[in-house]
Amino acid sequence: MDHAPFSLSPRRSQDRLPSPYRDEHAVLVDLIARLPASLSWPAAAAAAWPWVRAVREKPAPFWAMESLLRDYPISRPEGLALMRLAEALLRVPDAATAVALTADQLGRAHFDAPEFSHHKMISGLSSSIIALSKRFLPEAGGETGLFQRLGAQTVVAATTRAIQLMGRQFVLGRHIGEALHEARATRHSHPELRFSYDMLGEGARTEADARRYLASYADAIAHIARAARGGGPEAADGISIKLSALFPRYEDAHRARVGDTLLPRAWTLVQAAAQADMNLTIDAEECDRLELSLDVFEALAFRAAAEFPQWRGFGLAVQAYQTRARHVIDEVARIAHAHGQRFMVRLVKGAYWDGEIKRAQEMGVSAYPVYTHKHHTDISYLACAGALIDHADVIYPQFATHNAGTIAAIQAMARSRNAAYEMQRLHGMGEAIYREVLHGAGMPVRVYAPVGEHRDLLAYLVRRLLENGANSSFVHQLTDDSVTIDSLLASPLHPSPEGGLPLPVALYGWDGHRGRRNPAGADLAVAAERQRFELAATSTRMDTVPEAPVDTVHDTMTRLHAAFPSWNATPLAERAAVLRRAGDALEMRLPEFCGLLVREAHKTLGDCISEVREAIDFCRYYAEQAETTLASRTLPGPTGESNTLHLHGRGVFVCISPWNFPLAIFAGQVVAALVAGNTVAAKPAEQTPAVAARFVALLHEAGVPADALTLQHGPGHTTGAALVAHPLTAGVCFTGSTAVARTINRALAAKEGPIVPLIAETGGINAMVVDSTALPEQVVDAVVQSGFRSAGQRCSALRLLCVHEDIADGIIEMISGALHELSVGDPALLATDVGPVIDQEAHDAISRQVRRLENEARLIGRAKAPAGRFIAPVAFEVAKVADVQTEIFGPVLHVVRWSGEPDGVIAEINALGYGLTLGLQTRIDSRGLRLASLARIGNVYVNRNMIGAVVGVQPFGGEGLSGTGPKAGGPHYLPRFCAEQTVTINTAAAGGNAALLAGTAPDT
Ligand SMILES: Cc1cc2nc3c(=O)[nH]c(=O)nc-3n(C[C@H](O)[C@H](O)[C@H](O)COP(=O)(O)OP(=O)(O)OC[C@H]3O[C@@H](n4cnc5c(N)ncnc54)[C@H](O)[C@@H]3O)c2cc1C
Repeated sequence: MDHAPFSLSPRRSQDRLPSPYRDEHAVLVDLIARLPASLSWPAAAAAAWPWVRAVREKPAPFWAMESLLRDYPISRPEGLALMRLAEALLRVPDAATAVALTADQLGRAHFDAPEFSHHKMISGLSSSIIALSKRFLPEAGGETGLFQRLGAQTVVAATTRAIQLMGRQFVLGRHIGEALHEARATRHSHPELRFSYDMLGEGARTEADARRYLASYADAIAHIARAARGGGPEAADGISIKLSALFPRYEDAHRARVGDTLLPRAWTLVQAAAQADMNLTIDAEECDRLELSLDVFEALAFRAAAEFPQWRGFGLAVQAYQTRARHVIDEVARIAHAHGQRFMVRLVKGAYWDGEIKRAQEMGVSAYPVYTHKHHTDISYLACAGALIDHADVIYPQFATHNAGTIAAIQAMARSRNAAYEMQRLHGMGEAIYREVLHGAGMPVRVYAPVGEHRDLLAYLVRRLLENGANSSFVHQLTDDSVTIDSLLASPLHPSPEGGLPLPVALYGWDGHRGRRNPAGADLAVAAERQRFELAATSTRMDTVPEAPVDTVHDTMTRLHAAFPSWNATPLAERAAVLRRAGDALEMRLPEFCGLLVREAHKTLGDCISEVREAIDFCRYYAEQAETTLASRTLPGPTGESNTLHLHGRGVFVCISPWNFPLAIFAGQVVAALVAGNTVAAKPAEQTPAVAARFVALLHEAGVPADALTLQHGPGHTTGAALVAHPLTAGVCFTGSTAVARTINRALAAKEGPIVPLIAETGGINAMVVDSTALPEQVVDAVVQSGFRSAGQRCSALRLLCVHEDIADGIIEMISGALHELSVGDPALLATDVGPVIDQEAHDAISRQVRRLENEARLIGRAKAPAGRFIAPVAFEVAKVADVQTEIFGPVLHVVRWSGEPDGVIAEINALGYGLTLGLQTRIDSRGLRLASLARIGNVYVNRNMIGAVVGVQPFGGEGLSGTGPKAGGPHYLPRFCAEQTVTINTAAAGGNAALLAGTAPDT
């Protein structure tokens, strides 16, 4: 049957599911109320008790995950070292780096400690090898003799082999043929087993990756179909797929492309699985993809219903740790009813808990999308299991867990309803517990069986180690004899009134009254949140800000000078309170300011939210800092006198800010100067006065006196110059180019009168150094975000990528592929990754530089860009670091290959003279620290992107040609805006030291 191409339904104005960010306790109470009456925890625990005891008496095989975690818990350096080696060692192509990595990781662990003498880890990774390796391996960074090096390489080879062997325990085969063979062999002794094959590899970064994964899934389905024994999807082996593997931009923001590209790809797999009458499950991934994945699921289900009405094998995984899990199940049942289908639904607890927590904290959302107590996840799992069983007419439940208590509870619930279901476990895990559970039970069990080469296995393996190595994990505690069986099987059915973690708002110590509140952010994947911002991006009014003629500068300065004594005398607490009010007002008006930023500065919505939150943070952070660092303090001294240090404003501060952060940098400068007691002449960039004007109005509303702060909008070379040169200027705070900073410096030096301090934050040729232990996907994510986000128009943006020659080809190819996936266009659209550059002048200047590079360097790849003021993100390969002498303030990346010692690369980067941001990508921890200490650079980021410094977390600012310091958003910033005074009072002046003589002096 031929069908017209199908697509996703239009974006909904309302999500299918409730908000992911709801009160955890309230959600839990509701779930508990819905738990089936058939659930008796004491009965479940009693059923599970003998299983656990039997496993403890007859432990899992030595190669199982349980045994690995018992011998090497990840809470100990040895377990951590093992995990890190497993993650990185096998991909390192060069011997020298492999030696350094092994030395680094083994060097900090104590594998030769007595408690490891009994362990039975797989051959090759015995304690003696590891202990030996410590003797042979060079200390990280140290000199190595020939003998030692030979020894080291032998040890590294042995360790590599051991990691390979370890990895092999967790994949069923290197390719699907091998996996099917293994499955057949296993079934001889365990006929109840079915398999769901997982072709390893997730998160395609490029179209080439996606096509490769698609081909590998299609090939696997064909193989599984050929080997099938019939019996329908419940009895036959099936496949699990990850949608993120099929399309590099599987993100809510790229919904239209998901519909155009991913959907047809997924359909080819669904179609093949339906034709083979096997189970195809869509794995569950991150929370922000859940609504999108349900849309994809429904579109595929709808078509499957039309083309394969008899097929009952389509399904998806549901994560119980999500606070929306129960609703997902009802939604899946609704879809099934709507299209007359029956689905197979795998219930898991969830594999990305740590990542979800971090993302929520970073976004500043109102709650977590996942539960924050382990037993809450367990409650949710049971409630979801009950719901799946209730929907037995349209859902075949597949319960994936290794937790004995959970298994026993499910068995009881299912029995009471006479429901058909299966259990699932991961290959290499849970074997021992299922050995006991299955004892004569005749229950079907499906094994989730990863298939792939070592390289693809590692990320999977590390996730499993992390997830199951957590102290709260059942598998981890199962083999820990110090945990009694009763406590292992304790009832989870008591919701805790308090969350297990402070909410994202409390990230910086906010307790509801004191501390700094993390500014509220928004999740643009949630319809209700997204709409406010989309509306603001198109409807926010942008005021015209009249220029203040240069001849008004003198009046402005005179007025500000006159206002200084009174503002400076305003108590510190009151000035701080003004800043806090301003921060709160800005938080209330987040969408409005985002709309303004989109319209005036052409920033994408995500960037706008970050920027407004940074401005709020500056207000709150400097308020807090002012009260601690600027408060008067008593100094020690001899008896008979008091000594006090006071800090106060210097006078009129001139703040000159750039267009690339027209709110955050503008706000940061202005509120810092104000809270220190200065009055302020604020000159925004010519391109972005409207954002600045509205923030100044907000500050006045918050209580900054009208004559303590003036917006002086005008060109830099006239208005800016006049402000700097004015005799009443007591300080200048500038962010912008190094050239303009020099001009200001000279102008200040040429003035008569007091020497005026300059705080300057200037440009950078920011580099990222990547060694051969780095994970290429992580590197490319960091490169794309750091180099091209905000059209590369950030001071911190990556300009120069230095990649070890042994991995350079692969990384360069991936960067080229990732560039093709970027959407360049209207910043008001959610799907836009890169907007236009700020103005025509910038466009022309960057275009000239790109043309020069087209002649001088090798083009690596370029994104597509529409006509207009857009610069297509582009990357070029150059021969050496020294070839990059000027900062190109746009989405233009230089790449160089390096070899030898990374210290030399840092020396070359230092020699460029700039020192703003540096990225390091290495799994050799000691190398990361050493390179950071060698770099004369203000902000160093290891194994992540190098943009988006957070106030009070990564205080921002550089050295050398990159600025004078102190760092904005750091503890040393405010004092630079102050003058200092000590007051010494001779308390014995009246004729003698009465306090000393009376014995009441503090030092007697
Ligand atoms: C067959 C199979 C398929 C799978 N497919 C997927 C999939 O598609 N997507 C996916 O995400 N995972 C998937 N998983 C992984 C699964 O989520 C983990 O195996 C599971 O988390 C382990 O659960 P458990 O019941 O065995 O262990 P338990 O130890 O009982 O539970 C561990 C769970 O508790 C959560 N947890 C830990 N600490 C806390 C805390 N403080 N607050 C709240 N929760 C906490 C963990 O995140 C984890 O989800 C699959 C697992 C199996 C067996």
